[in-house]
Order: sequence, then C-alpha cells, then structure tokens
Amino acid sequence: MSLTQTTDLDALTRELDRGHVFHSWSAQGAISPFVLAGGSGTTVWDHSGRSWLDFSSQLVNVNIGHQHPAVVQAIKEQAEILTTVSPATANLARGRAASLIADLAPDGFEKVFFTNGGADANENAIRLARLYTGRDTVLSQYRSYHGNTGAAIVATGDWRRMPNQYARGHVHFFGPYPYRSEFWSVSPEQECERALHHLRRTIEAEGPGTIAAILIESIPGTAGVIVPPDGYLAGVRALADEFGIVLILDEVMAGFGRTGEWFAFERHGVVPDLITFAKGVNSGYVPLGGVIISDPIAATFDDRVFPGGLTYSGHPLATAAAVATIEAMHAEGVVENAHTIGAEALAPALAALAEKHEVIGEVRGEGVFWALELVADRATREPLPAATMARLKTELLERGLLPFVSDNRIHVVPPCTVTADEVARAVEIYDAALAVIEPVG
Ligand code: PLP
Repeated sequence: MSLTQTTDLDALTRELDRGHVFHSWSAQGAISPFVLAGGSGTTVWDHSGRSWLDFSSQLVNVNIGHQHPAVVQAIKEQAEILTTVSPATANLARGRAASLIADLAPDGFEKVFFTNGGADANENAIRLARLYTGRDTVLSQYRSYHGNTGAAIVATGDWRRMPNQYARGHVHFFGPYPYRSEFWSVSPEQECERALHHLRRTIEAEGPGTIAAILIESIPGTAGVIVPPDGYLAGVRALADEFGIVLILDEVMAGFGRTGEWFAFERHGVVPDLITFAKGVNSGYVPLGGVIISDPIAATFDDRVFPGGLTYSGHPLATAAAVATIEAMHAEGVVENAHTIGAEALAPALAALAEKHEVIGEVRGEGVFWALELVADRATREPLPAATMARLKTELLERGLLPFVSDNRIHVVPPCTVTADEVARAVEIYDAALAVIEPVG
C-alpha cells in the first residue's frame, strides 16, 4: 500500500510499525505505540490532526520545542552544502559547534569529542578516564541511566543493567534520595552527609588506587529527577580530588537548559573533569552527543593516540543543528525561560496540585525538569500500582497531554520554550486526570 492510496495514515502507521519495527525495551507483542506525525513548539499531532501538549519532550530531548524554524533551516542549508564528511577531516559546522559548546562549559574546557548520542558519550568518557588514570574501576549510582552500550549500560544502576553485564570493572553505590532514604536520614542535610560517607566507604573498600572514575548524572533523570541535596556534588568532587579519581558528570538529560541553567551542575558550584551531553545540544533533530574534555585530560592525548572513533563523529547535519540550536537558545533566552517558568509557573502550580491530591507523595525538580512521585499511601509512601499508573496515562492522553511516565512517577518535562499558558493548560489536565484515579484503585 502506498501512502497516497490510503486516507487513514494513522492506521497505516500502526500497521507498518507492528509489522516491521522492533522496539526498544519492550516485549514486542505487548505494545501499541502512539502515532505522531508532526509538531510545533510544545504541540504534537497525529495524521488525523488530533493534538497533544508534549509534556515529555519525547525522551526529554526536545528542549527548544518541535520544529524550531532556525534549526530546521540550518539543517536544510547544511544538507545543500555537504550532508556527510569523514571524522578525520576539518569541517566548519563541526568546528563551530565544538567552539560554541566549549564556550558554555566552565573555564578550562576547550575540546569536544563528538558521538552519536548519550550512551557513546559516556562510553568514551569512561575510556578517557581509564586511559588518563591508568586505573580500571568505574563507580556509578544504582539510581541512574547512562545509555545502552557496553560500559554505559553496566554503569547504569537500574534493571536494564542485569541482562547486559558484558563490561567489566563497574561498581555501584547509592546516591542521596531524601524521599526514600537508604540511610535512615530525616533531613536533606543528614542524607547528604550519610550518602557521602557511604561513597567514601565504597571507595575505600574497592581500593582508591583502582578507581578511574565516578560517573554520575548531575540530577538522576529517568530514575526520578532526584535533585541532590546542597553540598552533595561538592562532596563528591572533594572525594574525587582526594583519591585522584576523574569526575564525569552526565548532563545528557539535565544539560542544555533543562534545569534553567546550561548545565545542571552550575547551581552546585562544582566543576567536573569530563562532561557528557546529547539530547538538548540540538534537541535531537539529528542524533548528536559528546564529551567536553577538561584541558589536563585533553593534553595527555597531544602526543598519545586516543584509541576511539566513530564514522559519524561530528556529523555535519547534527553539528549544523547544534550551532543553530545554541545560537537560537542564546538569542531567544530559552534557558532563562526554563528558569522563570520553573520558578514562577511550574513550582507553585505543582505544589498546589500536591495540596489537592493525596496521591502525590512528593514534588521535586527545577526549571522544566520535575517529577510527581505518586503513592498509594502518603504515610507508608507505597508506590502507586502499575495498573493505576497505566490508567492515569490513558486519562492524560485522552485529555490532550502526552506525559512522561516512569515507574510510579509522572515527569513533568516540557520543552524549555514552554509558555505559562501551556503550563496552566497542562496543570488543568493533570488535575482532572488525577481526580479520576482517586481514591487509588
Ligand atoms: N545518560 C542519561 C542521563 C540519559 O538520560 C540517557 C538517555 O535517556 C543517556 C545517557 C543515553 O543517551 P542515548 O539514548 O542518546 O544513548
């Protein structure tokens, strides 16, 4: 069947998908993917014209909103000039993107290694740290996601690691999570202190001289937008310094405006040794990721070969999109908008929702990076059952909101360009959908 022979493109899309597309993280027979045909800003639609407010930013990557005209135009212009180029060449789009990205990083970061996405960014950051230190072990958190390749998936803490443990030298520890403390703490300060003690003991027990890197998300994202208590990231930095360990901050989800800063670590006054990025760097219009490398680490490869590479490292369509994205984000105050919307619209509106709905156990986040943690019982904090979460998702979709649902949480993660009016509309939808599932059952 050709596209022009059918009027029901949504049905055709579903049929082709179910017939031939093999999906991520799924039992193939158990899924019924949602059809999306187009989008603009915060809105997406199917082929029939039914639309939704995209409060997922897809996989939390469309920071600049859908179909930003300057980014689309830059991709078109680059496509007219040169659509692909070997990584060994010098290319203007690649060089401009690297320079703009390095400018966003703290002083002392001049070099960028480009990858195709976030997983291979972490993969190469781990490689850099191992080569730089001559050590092997990588410490990362149980509540984390770092990507689906060799070392990145084994650095990941959640269930996705277990069927994929082919890489060696990975050890996990618990990070701070005041709402569900592993440390019996009763305040964020105590959680911070005890989580840092636990990390110190993990380093000592594993042998400080064997540890190449501590790899953590500045704010664990998929695991629940778990904003670390003040002082935690600084404490991790101090431990890394004390034991000569490379600190890799994974900014793949939290970076490029999501928290209302270019990088989530900025508010914590911490400078890592390696920064990994992807998603928001060009909002995923063309796949791109990378590692921003601090000068001392980069310098060790001046005379020594860096044993890593990718055919599409710094692909011109992706880097042209990154240049246009970063320039538009500067010109249009997109990061500032994320900050203001977070402080003035999302924070008060989500707090008001929590006042009204018993099922919301905790609201946490910053910028346009929030989680509503849903519980069957506020006293015990028992997570809302999966069946109720599924019902809630259906209710949200039916009311015109595309949500990001993870375990017992709704992540409220619209584009950084979202308006106060769109937030108000979304909050009305969350409110109505939550009312339907209460009392929990
Ligand atoms: N790191 C973090 C924090 C992520 O959230 C993700 C993806 O969600 C990744 C790494 C992996 O990125 P990618 O899917 O582009 O490989």
